[in-house]
Amino acid sequence: MAQRKAVIVGGGFAGITAALALHDAGRQVTLIEQGPYLGGRCSGLDDPTQSIDVGHHMLFRGCSTTLRALGRLGLNEAVRLQPSTTLWFARTEDGATAALRSGRLEAPHHLVGSMLAFPFLDLKDKVRMRRVVQAMRDADDASVEDLDEVDFGTWLRSFEQTERAIEAFWAPLVKAGLNVHPDGASTAQAVLLFRATLFEDAQAYDAATFTMPLGHMMREIEARLNSEGLEVRTSVDVTAVHRHDGAWHISSSGSDVMADDVVLAVGARASAELAGASPDLKKHLVSLTGLKRSPRVAIHLFYSTSWPAMQPPFVFLVGPSPIDLIVHRSAELEAPDAGHWISVLCNDASGAASMSDDALTEEAMATIDRIWPREGTESPARVEVVRSMDATFASRPGAVTLRKGLMLNKEGMVFAGDWMWTGWPSSIEGACRSGLQAATDLIDDVGARPWDAWPAAPRRGDSGWPVWNVTAAQRP
Ligand SMILES: Cc1cc2nc3c(=O)[nH]c(=O)nc-3n(C[C@H](O)[C@H](O)[C@H](O)COP(=O)(O)OP(=O)(O)OC[C@H]3O[C@@H](n4cnc5c(N)ncnc54)[C@H](O)[C@@H]3O)c2cc1C
Repeated sequence: MAQRKAVIVGGGFAGITAALALHDAGRQVTLIEQGPYLGGRCSGLDDPTQSIDVGHHMLFRGCSTTLRALGRLGLNEAVRLQPSTTLWFARTEDGATAALRSGRLEAPHHLVGSMLAFPFLDLKDKVRMRRVVQAMRDADDASVEDLDEVDFGTWLRSFEQTERAIEAFWAPLVKAGLNVHPDGASTAQAVLLFRATLFEDAQAYDAATFTMPLGHMMREIEARLNSEGLEVRTSVDVTAVHRHDGAWHISSSGSDVMADDVVLAVGARASAELAGASPDLKKHLVSLTGLKRSPRVAIHLFYSTSWPAMQPPFVFLVGPSPIDLIVHRSAELEAPDAGHWISVLCNDASGAASMSDDALTEEAMATIDRIWPREGTESPARVEVVRSMDATFASRPGAVTLRKGLMLNKEGMVFAGDWMWTGWPSSIEGACRSGLQAATDLIDDVGARPWDAWPAAPRRGDSGWPVWNVTAAQRP
């Protein structure tokens, strides 16, 4: 029997995962990407060296599908995982630092010890927080989804969470995970995220960092896909996908490709444009374009002298500032080659995106100096400000309902992307899960799913996965 051919349009993490899964299922796979490199939103700046990330990306041990896909590609070395959870926080006003770390208790109590010592909340805040955690744990999936229209800030206040608790604890984590402030976030999505990462598995929030610049990692992924016999075509802009004589025709400015199956991993808007075949489908895809976009702004600062490795590698900021996260990026990299690199990220960044580069740089430098005071003052030798206006969709109230219910598998056409409903917000993990979901939908005639045999996601202590050790000097 002739090998079935699958074309995957879109080379972000969703398309990459779908391509790999379908290859493992015995399909002849072509992965087509519009840009010159794979990676989509998780990539390097569009220059030949690709040594600077578009913006800092972080994973957690709970991002199991992403880690399994990287493991399948033999790219364990591309990530480093904390041996136990440590999350650093710093108050913007005075630079005071604090950490939450997991102790010996099982989830959801594993953070209790450090939470009791957490200086940015008072005891009443901490006691009331237990009720929220309990409510998150107790709710079944259906009742969680009923909370989609309720904003998370209102829901938290219904459990008597103070403004201080919202700003010092919930906001940094919600903004990192959902790219919106709790007051603009879907409670359903927030609860699902916290359950998956913080309150059901004591290991899930161990942070993981990429040890290579993202552009370099994507080139490595492309090389590995090619070496396995998948065809990767970059710089090809697909302009239409239509069905004719029992086959899919994928048209681009270069040439047309035919396929039995097609995965559109290009985003909801581009999917609606490319796959307008059925009115019902088009209607649903167009409704999905109603998901609001949420920007992120990255400020990369390169200093010429190297700093002692005394700082925590990343810090969530607490307090009034456009900046949410400061990352000691050269401390994360296996082979830093771009000077001493501090990466600063603004989430939910419509305000930050309208600031000038100079104002953002000044704000970033002042915050770094306050949080990581050093001898003397040194200006960065180079600064790059990157505004990603479409960084994620915004997990606002109603977004879960909007994402659910998309018809799948129209005669061998399926969709993938972080916007598809997987239970995860707009993230690498959501993208990878949607890729496997798409592949599952296309191989429903096959009993076993070949990716069940992909390496398991690493648990603490597993060998073969680099550990992100934090020295005593880095503990605040
Ligand atoms: C600055 C920033 C920071 C972020 N931080 C994090 C983080 O810390 N953790 C996290 O999990 N997520 C983070 N994200 C979000 C994460 O990057 C995305 O959710 C994820 O990469 C989406 O993957 P995707 O495959 O669904 O979509 P994309 O990456 O958008 O991939 C879609 C691909 O389709 C291609 N395409 C579109 N149209 C066509 C066409 N007509 N023909 C051919 N190709 C086409 C595009 O070029 C693109 O490569 C961040 C995003 C940004 C921008």
